[in-house]
Amino acid sequence: MREFTRRRHRLERMVREAGVDLLAVSNPVNVSYLTNFSGDSSWLLIGPKRALLVSDGRYTIQIQEECSELDVHIRRTEQTIVQAVAEVLIKLGVHSVGVEASHLTLAEFEALRENAPAVSWSAMKKLVEKLRMIKDASELVQIREAIQYAEKAHAMFRAMLAPADSEKELGDAMDGYLRRAGAMGSSFPTIVGVGDNSAKPHAPLSQRRADESPFLLLDWGASGRFYKSDITRMIWHGEKASVGASARRAPRATVEDRLKKLYTIVLEAQTRALKQLRPGVTASTVDEAVRSYLEREGYNKYFNHGLGHGIGLQIHEGPNIRAKSPDVLEAGMVFTLEPGVYLPDFAGVRIEDDILLTPDCPEVLTHVPKSVDEVFSTSEFGFPISDSRQ
Ligand code: ZN
Ligand code: ZN
Repeated sequence: MREFTRRRHRLERMVREAGVDLLAVSNPVNVSYLTNFSGDSSWLLIGPKRALLVSDGRYTIQIQEECSELDVHIRRTEQTIVQAVAEVLIKLGVHSVGVEASHLTLAEFEALRENAPAVSWSAMKKLVEKLRMIKDASELVQIREAIQYAEKAHAMFRAMLAPADSEKELGDAMDGYLRRAGAMGSSFPTIVGVGDNSAKPHAPLSQRRADESPFLLLDWGASGRFYKSDITRMIWHGEKASVGASARRAPRATVEDRLKKLYTIVLEAQTRALKQLRPGVTASTVDEAVRSYLEREGYNKYFNHGLGHGIGLQIHEGPNIRAKSPDVLEAGMVFTLEPGVYLPDFAGVRIEDDILLTPDCPEVLTHVPKSVDEVFSTSEFGFPISDSRQ
């Protein structure tokens, strides 16, 4: 529990520096970060030497189990959470309160003002999110666990892959593998892009079968109790020659050569990003290293998203690794590096790993094989499971 107290102390200092009596933390992810409470619809009111959780009767027992050291106010059943918070603030006699501008809705804000008209309100931006960018030891343990679940699930996915499986079936199956591996579930809807569907970075799952192309893109991640992982790999099984509209009749060797070339370039782009990583470097510098390399190779215009994002309690959080990002990388940050090149009618290649920045160097936390030889290896060739449904 010590880590939660430490986080609250840090936030209390920030609240004091912001010049308000209290911060009303309404984002459930931030509430969990500060308390270990895993429920929702509950706000944490936090200020110098004061932390009070406003919740409801459904959570009385759970709060005892998860954060018994906190002061708690259980709202009456006829009250909304906003009315209960306003009532508590009036009772506490506070004058100025900060709200989480990135989370609170306009309707909630108006209700707060109506119910506690004497309070002066300030919109606070990303106070807790700033703390969350630097992971402490207990968070790193949980992120490593979420990665292990995802890696075990990948091994199951690879072993069970069958020619007649559709993207939809493969995506659903991945949810099951993740749970069997120990995760609470997927950290986001799994992406399976067969053939040129991989050229859509966030391809929706379709009925396309795995054997309609010799390769697919898999982007998946696990959720532990709180923390998340996020990985992308290309899977080459080499079973069928045709791929995409423009290469429908291309011999398999041609597709393999073309994809291998593209894969080699994306892998090199990721390696160049890794070489840039050290505390103090700006996120935009890392993005620029990848873009200038891809530009020279003629592919930058096909890299149509940011280079990476922080992971933790949420699948997308700070830091933002992209052009013009104001974020400076610091030791303790955990983020993805996921360069991708997307060629319409042929393929999208993305390689995504989860990285911890230590005081000296980056540590790649994900270990799913990704070298050209491993991905295109002949021993992995073909489907591990043939399918009678063909
Ligand atoms: Zn990602
Ligand atoms: Zn991803």
